[in-house]
Amino acid sequence: MITQLLKAGRESFEMGAKLIRAGELTAFPTETVYGLGADAFNGNAVKKIFEAKGRPSDNPLIVHVCSKEQMLQLGYWNDNAEAVFNAFMPGPITVVLKKRDLPNEVTAGLDTVGLRYPEHRDAQGFLALAGPVAAPSANISGRPSPTTAQHVFDDFNGKIPLIIDGGVCSVGVESTVISLAERPVLLRPGGVTPEQLLRVLPDMKIHEAVLRNIRLDAAASPGMKYKHYSPDARVVLVRGSGENLLASALENGIRAVLYPSRDAAADAHELFSRLRSADAQGLELVIFELPPQEGMGLSVINRLLRASAFTVADEGQSIEITCAGRSCRLKA
Ligand code: AMP
Ligand code: MG
Repeated sequence: MITQLLKAGRESFEMGAKLIRAGELTAFPTETVYGLGADAFNGNAVKKIFEAKGRPSDNPLIVHVCSKEQMLQLGYWNDNAEAVFNAFMPGPITVVLKKRDLPNEVTAGLDTVGLRYPEHRDAQGFLALAGPVAAPSANISGRPSPTTAQHVFDDFNGKIPLIIDGGVCSVGVESTVISLAERPVLLRPGGVTPEQLLRVLPDMKIHEAVLRNIRLDAAASPGMKYKHYSPDARVVLVRGSGENLLASALENGIRAVLYPSRDAAADAHELFSRLRSADAQGLELVIFELPPQEGMGLSVINRLLRASAFTVADEGQSIEITCAGRSCRLKA
């Protein structure tokens, strides 16, 4: 299959919508990451997403829409959904509601559906013509999410017919996922922060898996059973300054890079590009300083913990890691 990479605009939106209607896939930009879309009402088309990504079939997709009316058609609305909609939509947030009539492939057999109304102009332009589109991130499962059309091309060249290029994603991490099917529960931190959500939903709970990230616990939870965001290079996180660990790695002949934490929103914006470029640069170790555990910092930490398989060192501590095919003791 030839993969076309076309600039966002009328022509590519129409071509994408035509492919979606024909049961094919199209990748498109959003403000969070690029999505790999199929017609949300076509179970066979949705299956192609799982095949192309190598995605486990029990991991549900998010349905992308371009109006509140479409949300009302797909899920059972309630007061909390209304409040979240008015405060944050369109924007980088997904609400989980009891589902109406949708194929089981989209929701992985659950009785709920994740709904998202992206703010990105090109996402809206495409969705206005394509209708509700089921889409996870447009990366091969386990790889870092894509924040440029080139990232999507790197993963899917020859496997999908069209990538709509809308430039670099502004947020850079995936949407916040909040379940509103019953009492509000934050399932995944993302582009809208917990602090922002709590102002609108004061009784929102934070899911245990997210709390584990806040505590930097390595314990596994159902949602964390899959390998995520991983380059071939080893990723290690440092609480405090990463300078010592970088120096220690270089002394040991390890090709390493350090990304100091500047500002959590900027860290989020660069995160997946940094993970993706590690292998192209032939790096063996990528060190990230952890941002403060607040605001967008929580979303960044959530992704970094998975990318590093929960490898966190405190400044001043020694750690033993396997890197570049050998075991080494490094000082952080
Ligand atoms: P991705 O866009 O690749 O990050 O994948 C979509 C994510 O949305 C999944 O990993 C789920 O965690 C979440 N999601 C989608 N639908 C539901 C749902 N009905 N209930 C809970 N989480 C969901
Ligand atoms: Mg994903």
